[in-house]
Order: sequence, then C-alpha cells, then structure tokens
Amino acid sequence: MIKIPEKINIANLPTRIEKLEKLSEKLGGPNIYIKRDDQTGMETSGNKVRKLEFSVKEAIDRGCDTLITCGGIQSNHCRATAAIAAKLSLKSCLVLKGSSDEEVDGNLFLDKLLGAEIHFITPEEYKNRRMEIMKEIKSSMEEKGFKPYIIPEGASNGIGGFGYYKTMEEIIDQEKELGVHFDGIVVATGSGGTYSGLLLASKILNHSGRIYGVNVCDDEEYFKSKIHEILNESINYLNIDLSFSKDEIHIMDGYVGKGYALSRKEELEFISDFAKMEGIVVDPVYTGKAMYGLTEEIKKGSFSECKNLLFIHTGGIFGIFPGKKLFENL
Ligand SMILES: *Cc1c(COP(=O)(O)O)cnc(C)c1O
Repeated sequence: MIKIPEKINIANLPTRIEKLEKLSEKLGGPNIYIKRDDQTGMETSGNKVRKLEFSVKEAIDRGCDTLITCGGIQSNHCRATAAIAAKLSLKSCLVLKGSSDEEVDGNLFLDKLLGAEIHFITPEEYKNRRMEIMKEIKSSMEEKGFKPYIIPEGASNGIGGFGYYKTMEEIIDQEKELGVHFDGIVVATGSGGTYSGLLLASKILNHSGRIYGVNVCDDEEYFKSKIHEILNESINYLNIDLSFSKDEIHIMDGYVGKGYALSRKEELEFISDFAKMEGIVVDPVYTGKAMYGLTEEIKKGSFSECKNLLFIHTGGIFGIFPGKKLFENL
C-alpha cells in the first residue's frame, strides 16, 4: 500500500452513491449514478473540504495559525476555508475577485458570518497577480506576528489533490458494496485538483474507469497543462516512480457557455428540470454545467460503450441563491 500524506478529519465520509433512475431512463444510455459530495458537510459542503483536510493538516504541521486563500466572490472553496478556520481557531484571510459593492448573499454572506477577513481585488488583479497579492498579505501578517499558510485557488495543488485520491479509494470500496463497476467517472473541473486526485489514484490503484472533467472555464489545453502540473506536485509527496502523459487527461470541452459563473438559458432550464426530476439541486457555476454537458454527450452517443457512469456532485448549493432572479423567466 502506498503511503500518502496525512489529513485531518472534518468531512462526513463516506458520501452516498445513489442511482439516478429517472435521468438514466430518460436518456436511455448508461446507468447514471451520483456521488453526493455535496453532503460532505453543511458549512463545509462540497469537494473543497476533502482537499482542505490535507492542506490544513500541512498548515498545522508547519505551525501556522492563519489560512490565506483566494477565489471568486461566490467561491465555495473560500467559504469552506473560512468554516474550517473558525472550527480550528485559525484566522482566515480571503482574497476575492469582486468588489465590496456586490450583494452580500450566498457564500460571501457565509464568509462574513464565519469571521473571514476579506480583501477584494479586481478581475485583472485576480488573473495576473493573485499569488503575489496573497504573498503580500502573508508578509504583512508576519510582521504582525502571525504565521500564515497560503492555499492556492481551490486548494488545487499537490497536497490538496490527495483529497480526491482518498475519494477514489472510497469509490472503489463502494463499487464492491454496490456490486457495480463504474466505467466512467465525471466531475466538474474549475481549478483541476479534484480531477488530478482522481486520476492519480485511478492509475496507482489500477481502476480501469476513465475519468472525465467537464471544464467550467478556460479550455481543454489549459486544463491538460494545469492538471499535469498538479499530478507532478502530488507525485513529489510520494516515494514512487510514476509519470503521466497529457493524453491520459480527458477533458470534455464545449460546456463553458458564456464563461465562468455565467449561465445560459439551457443550463438554467436543465438545473430546474433536474431538481424537479430527481430532487437534487445542482449549482449554476460547476455541477449544473457539468451535468448538462454530461447529458448532452449521452444524447450524442459519446457514452454508448459505457455501462455505468458515476457523476460526482461536488456541491455549490450556496452559489444558487445570488442568481435566483435568473430562474424567474425560464
Ligand atoms: C471548486 C468546485 C469544483 C471544481 O473542482 P476543482 O478541483 O476546482 O476542479 C466543482 N464543483 C464545485 C461545486 C466547486 O466548488
């Protein structure tokens, strides 16, 4: 058994796997299952807590007392970081892309309620120099006597990726319990760490299912490079000789639509129909786009060789509230 880094335990695990009977039947393709990683917690719901269990363990082991991280104004990752920091009596500093004029709703509201210190930066600053900005904050906090630890966007780096390495182990155990083998696993991809962890584990643990990432921003090329980088960083934590080629990374591009956190009518309609059909709410930024993309691909026949598909519901429920007006005129 290969030895991966240690973690703290915060998430409610394992998360359930349920079959989407009605959607599977409607599409007439593979059996579609859903893994409820939206139920890893409440304040810490979604995929980010799994990655943060590893990142925060590293921070604590290094004697740090402050978590600095960044994300969009409705970042699920930032909200989960703020919740974990509060629970563990750490300080949290969030660098958010947006301005203080925006409505305080959804995750932003929770960030404040959870006691995070918030720094707003412009989209240009976010794109070009978010890491520098976090480093500046780190230095100024060090001058005040704090010991900050920087978690990159989405905790998508070598250490955070182990959250989804562990998830793959969990899925393999659940396959045995359920008596199903997933020949495809589909996940929304926004910063790449979730995908990277799943792929790393599937290779090391010899799982034959193909992992598909539906990108919700940027494009296939970008994510192949980004995920490749994260994989190499994770491998550096392990004492093994392993490498990946970019061809092993499967991105289903074509569903970014209007861009990150922007919704098209067909995506909103999908979210609304799916909620009524299965009693499960997917979010407009990540899981709604990914699920919509998956159903479109099934309709096109892309999964005709596939018997059982697993979609990982990575959370994001709070992100639906600030956009509630969009659903009014469907
Ligand atoms: C962050 C996020 C993702 C994407 O995960 P990455 O590891 O960043 O690729 C998917 N779904 C939700 C709800 C998220 O918050």
